[in-house]
Amino acid sequence: MSTVAQLDSGFDWKSIVYFIIFHCVAVACFFVPMSWYHIAIGIGMYVIRMFYISTGYHRFFTHRTYDAPYWYQIVIAVLGSTAVQRGPLWWSAVHALHHANPDNTHDNRTADPHKPEPFWEGHIIWILRKTHNTMPIPKKYQDKKLLLLIDKYHIVFPIALGVISFLFGGLPLLASMIISTLFLYHATWSVNSFAHTFGSQPYQNHDNARNLWWVAILTLGEGWHNYHHHRPRDSRFGWFDPGYWGLVFLEKIGIISNLNRYSLS
Ligand SMILES: [Zn+2]
Ligand SMILES: [Zn+2]
Repeated sequence: MSTVAQLDSGFDWKSIVYFIIFHCVAVACFFVPMSWYHIAIGIGMYVIRMFYISTGYHRFFTHRTYDAPYWYQIVIAVLGSTAVQRGPLWWSAVHALHHANPDNTHDNRTADPHKPEPFWEGHIIWILRKTHNTMPIPKKYQDKKLLLLIDKYHIVFPIALGVISFLFGGLPLLASMIISTLFLYHATWSVNSFAHTFGSQPYQNHDNARNLWWVAILTLGEGWHNYHHHRPRDSRFGWFDPGYWGLVFLEKIGIISNLNRYSLS
């Protein structure tokens, strides 16, 4: 029996209720009066959290495109968790399945968690299913107590960010943080939906991954998804890649090392 057959792809009602309530609250937040100061901080929270999803959850925990000391892995785990995309180990395990069987085009050994057909399945519906709700913890992390703790209690960190936002900026800053989270969700999901449906395919990967410039802008470089599927171990995804630029800076100041670089041609 294949792994796919054993997975329950039914809907997870807790996730559905969460995302419906979240979207209603986020839409209501647009009606909260806020100043440019609140908006600027919301944009800052978006950029920092997207940076840690892209360069931390994705380029480090999933693809190991560089080396990082354990303390910086903890930083990634904490700041990445504030994006409300669960813990780094769950995120990277799910994304590894996506690379193992992109779009379910190869075989059925492993199900692609967010195959882009139909379009909305790849964008959001997949996350409402039970299919990959639990993922096994890879062996290499089983003795990393603090990391496991953060991965398990990831929800503490976005709640803490919300409380801090409210304490420092009242309802307007909390609303700005929630709107920033809304954009984070849809920008990240756009890689699985838009960048698997629209855009160019200069590299032959035998899957639907595309390069899509506007997704690259919104996701700090993740939109060069056709190239990323071509060379997942490259720390650089494309010519406009603020995530990569940030990693080069972190390498220069000695926080990370051994940044994988390939020729983009
Ligand atoms: Zn992909
Ligand atoms: Zn990847």
